[in-house]
Amino acid sequence: MSPAEVRTAPAGPLATVDRARLRLLLDEEADRFRRDHHRSGALWERAQGSLLGGVPMSWMTEWASPYPVFMREARGARLVDVDGNEYADLCLGDTGAMTGHSPTGSIVAIQRQLERGLTTMLPTEDAIWVGEELTRRFGLTRWQFTTSATDANRFVLRFCRQITGRPKVLVFDYCYHGTVDETFATLEGGLVRARDGNVGPPVDPALTTKVVQFNDVDALRAALEPQDVACVLAEPALTNIGIVLPEPGFHEALRELTRRTGTLLVIDETHTISTGAGGYTGAYGLEPDALTIGKAIASGIPMGAYGVSGDVARRIFEQEDADYEDVGGVGGTLAGNALQLAAARATLASVLTEKAYARTIPLAERYTDGVARTIEELRLPWHIARLGCRAEYMFCPSPPRTGAEAAAVGHDDNLKAYMHLAALNRGVLITPFHNMALISPDTTEADVDLHTRVFREAAERLVG
Ligand code: PMP
Repeated sequence: MSPAEVRTAPAGPLATVDRARLRLLLDEEADRFRRDHHRSGALWERAQGSLLGGVPMSWMTEWASPYPVFMREARGARLVDVDGNEYADLCLGDTGAMTGHSPTGSIVAIQRQLERGLTTMLPTEDAIWVGEELTRRFGLTRWQFTTSATDANRFVLRFCRQITGRPKVLVFDYCYHGTVDETFATLEGGLVRARDGNVGPPVDPALTTKVVQFNDVDALRAALEPQDVACVLAEPALTNIGIVLPEPGFHEALRELTRRTGTLLVIDETHTISTGAGGYTGAYGLEPDALTIGKAIASGIPMGAYGVSGDVARRIFEQEDADYEDVGGVGGTLAGNALQLAAARATLASVLTEKAYARTIPLAERYTDGVARTIEELRLPWHIARLGCRAEYMFCPSPPRTGAEAAAVGHDDNLKAYMHLAALNRGVLITPFHNMALISPDTTEADVDLHTRVFREAAERLVG
């Protein structure tokens, strides 16, 4: 059971994708979708009258289908839509339901808490249990809770700028850390500029942010040298532009350079918690100054968390002119409430356990094997990477080293739409933003094998 792996395309002549054929196949899949999703279609029409864009949140239009599937219920690793179609759910709410949907252990605790008060502005004992458990898993010794991973990142950036007195933050190109203004920056011709489509940026991110390519130690050294960067905010492996794994020695260099320049290191484990119960940090012995997480930790109840080292905690409380408790910019009325903490305790105690990973990681290996077999046998110019119980195929033969490389070579919107819609029409959901699949404790071998068959069928039709 290895935490991470990459399976590349075979050497020699590779199959090519005929674009006209792809267009035809995509149209066929769209017709089939419409035939099988009448009720979703009717709800979609009705939703136009009250919901902005016809959905409760704008990213729900990102699915490859002509309109979103409206959900009836989800339990474990299965989802049923309003037309009665059933799916093996490998999207799992883009990690929000990595626990499986409504896992029994969490539901019992959540139901119990529903009767006992949800939010009181007072701590519960569950908060201490969760803090202790997060320390055991990740090593950071002081924890706070938020309503999302986005908030956890935003607050940690504030702390880092406050205690270092430095204005800038550093992120890796094509990162995603939630809707955090400072992180919507990219590199163009060596210069920092706003990511395309940035909606109403409060300031130009070039003023707040330095951007470096993932795995580029020399550029990182040069960016940290002037000692004007408060913190590096990093996923330990990029997961939002396909999976880009760190090269050997990268994390050692990142830690050494941040320490030497007095820059704080913040590791975002929101997605890489797929690596194991202690995330990538636990599996590879990273030593960040702060760690952020969210999505799955409360089984789908909105919650994020951040942990800091003892040293960072001490420096936070030395700041006499900083208002951490009221209107200083760190907060959230519902943050750290009783329901969140009851759900998080149950999730950590009984769902996302070491035992669960001992089951989900081998299943993800089975998933990766299935996809890799098709890639090899059909000689597709694609590869698949896996990080624990998370796997993602990309439309390029070998793994990119950086986010920019991944953005340039690994993405093909029509191809992605076809592969996703073909899977959806045959009862498998994968994450709409990219080609990611996640394994929950409730996912079965049969679910994985269904994906293997569906992936093979879609790819065979593509190469003809
Ligand atoms: N960190 C990472 C690495 C993420 O991928 C995301 C969202 N995809 C977030 C933070 C933000 O999570 P949320 O939208 O739940 O706040």
